[in-house]
Amino acid sequence: MEETKKIPELYGSLVFNDKVMREKLPKDVYKALRKTIDNNAHFELDVANSVAVAMKEWAVENGATHFTHWFQPMTGATAEKHDSFISPDDKGQVIMEFAGKELVKGEPDASSFPSGGLRATFEARGYTAWDPTSPAFIKDKTLYIPTAFCSYSGEALDKKTPLLRSMEALSKEATKVLNLLGNKEVTSVSTTVGPEQEYFLIDKEDYAKRKDLIFTGRTLLGAMPPKGQEMEDHYFGTLKTRVSEYMHDLDMELWKLGIPAKTKHNEVAPCQHELAPVFDTTNAAVDHNQLTMELMKKVAEKHGFVCLLHEKPFAGINGSGKHNNWSLSTNTGINLLEPGKSPAENTQFLVFLTAVIKAVDDYADLLRLSVATPGNDHRLGANEAPPAVVSMFLGDELTAVVESIENDTFFNRMDKVQMETGATVLPHFFKDNTDRNRTSPFAFTGNKFEFRMLGSSLSVAGPNVILNTAVAESLAGFYDELKDVAKDKLDDAVHELVKKTLIEHKRIIFNGDGYTDEWIEEAKKRGLPNLKSTPDALPVFIADKNVKLFTKHGIFTESEINSRYEILLENYNKTIHIEAKTLADMLYHQFLPGVEGYMNELADTIIKKKQALPGVSCKAEESALSKVSHAYDSIYELTGKLTEDTAKAELIEDSLKQADYYKDTIIGDMEAIRVIADATEEIIPEDALPYPNYGKILFYV
Ligand code: ADP
Ligand code: MG
Repeated sequence: MEETKKIPELYGSLVFNDKVMREKLPKDVYKALRKTIDNNAHFELDVANSVAVAMKEWAVENGATHFTHWFQPMTGATAEKHDSFISPDDKGQVIMEFAGKELVKGEPDASSFPSGGLRATFEARGYTAWDPTSPAFIKDKTLYIPTAFCSYSGEALDKKTPLLRSMEALSKEATKVLNLLGNKEVTSVSTTVGPEQEYFLIDKEDYAKRKDLIFTGRTLLGAMPPKGQEMEDHYFGTLKTRVSEYMHDLDMELWKLGIPAKTKHNEVAPCQHELAPVFDTTNAAVDHNQLTMELMKKVAEKHGFVCLLHEKPFAGINGSGKHNNWSLSTNTGINLLEPGKSPAENTQFLVFLTAVIKAVDDYADLLRLSVATPGNDHRLGANEAPPAVVSMFLGDELTAVVESIENDTFFNRMDKVQMETGATVLPHFFKDNTDRNRTSPFAFTGNKFEFRMLGSSLSVAGPNVILNTAVAESLAGFYDELKDVAKDKLDDAVHELVKKTLIEHKRIIFNGDGYTDEWIEEAKKRGLPNLKSTPDALPVFIADKNVKLFTKHGIFTESEINSRYEILLENYNKTIHIEAKTLADMLYHQFLPGVEGYMNELADTIIKKKQALPGVSCKAEESALSKVSHAYDSIYELTGKLTEDTAKAELIEDSLKQADYYKDTIIGDMEAIRVIADATEEIIPEDALPYPNYGKILFYV
């Protein structure tokens, strides 16, 4: 009771938010900072100095002793280096200090972060630059300042910089189109994101015994338990006390940081759960999601759990994803993907809807690329997540609207309520409340799109960079087509443009079951890309049309694109390499010795039985021994092959060729071993192996 009463007070209590800024900053400084946050206006150093003083005061009052520039390098995790506020004076005492220049700029050594060749080794310096649009916060007695991270020569080395650039590009293009359509009050448009985050919670002790979980985040061996998720009794099931206490604690920690955690429930797989926050501006949502993932892990420790964010911790059991709910909202507070009440609003809605449809079709390859990670390769197309083919779900009503525009027919609402006719030729309709398609990679859900291909551990920055940029490009094209049209012809021109665009791009719309083979066939006929794995998807990054897109909108320079392409390839190769080494390690040091022990026991039993009872049958023991011994031989031989192949992989110089080799040869080797090893695990004693099996991990929490 006491605790819950205080939640409004607790919420955001560790954030340097608007309320604190208003209280702590001189009026003119507050105004200048607000202008920077709301309109991307530049600010001067004296403003920064003033903000720094207030920030430090507030941070020290709230127990902070240090500050850190918090950034998001290409590792996908976050990085930080802590400096204390103390500054010694000449009398041997200290004062707490924090200057504007320390707030605005940091100079971490960049040499140990992935740069994909961007940063020459002799120039190790990197810069972090304050991002005032994401509020500073206190964690572990440290003031965290969200920053962008770039090289000495100004090239982006992080995930935030391109995201901010893409948000600006979209804002610019969307505003131009809105103004042209007569919506003159709009001066900026921001994108909003609500990421739904899936995760597993398992017991800390089980985790500690499994090298595969420790080194790779997923199990590389493990037979299915007698019960899996077939009873479908976990989804939305009652929360176990220990789990519910964890979730409560997590909510509290998130709320203190102003992260609006809202929904929590059990997911499909045993031990799997989900958390969804209320949506926010993309930039804040990305930072918040990074913090959420970090806190999920940290709070788990306190409760004796380990939180697994890997996309596929257990073979045969559903993996974890992240749904990126996305929309556009004007500075006047209008959600542009909300079907309107008046025909004019409808026009606006249809223009933006069409822009998204065109964007997803034109850049389906990039959207696929943006979710490509070795972990996610286990999910996409495995009938638990959308296929690797990007398509869009619009729902019955919107599809009917689209068809009526395409065919110039009168749109009738399905429930026979007469549509409203207005000044424009575009139809009036209501928010779609029909069935929600769970198999679609990119679904319209009433007033937003839900991009469902993301893996659970991915930073949501990347996919949103692509979405924002691709939609900015559609809108830029629309603007060019409409800008010289006479005012009295604008309605017709918009109608024609929407119609033409829909006809051109309707192949991307698919409302059926995305899990079926028929759809994959059909998608092929429609010419939609099917990039099955990360190495298949990565070259898309450097394709001409995509380089053109990024450079036109100022999202990436060519060298930034090439560096990121290299980093992604390197990351893929390293990940599979570590998995292969871990598997060989477990086989040589744990699995094979375990099987050996069992073979010994069987052999002993046979000998002893025969001694005790001459002439007795040892058929069962002999058959077991022979089976296990065959398996032992095969696994031993295949592990040798895996080790040799892994060594060969290291010699391949071209990183794309290396990635293909890891994908085809190494993953193939690993799968071949796993088939035999998992079958063997099913027929040996439980305690033959020094680590817990799936049944123990998944059903004893
Ligand atoms: P689901 O059935 O998929 O859980 P919800 O309606 O609960 O759907 O929404 C899921 C997520 O979508 C939440 O994080 C929510 O805040 C977010 N969301 C809602 N509206 C928007 C919007 N306009 N822009 C971005 N995200 C949104
Ligand atoms: Mg959802």
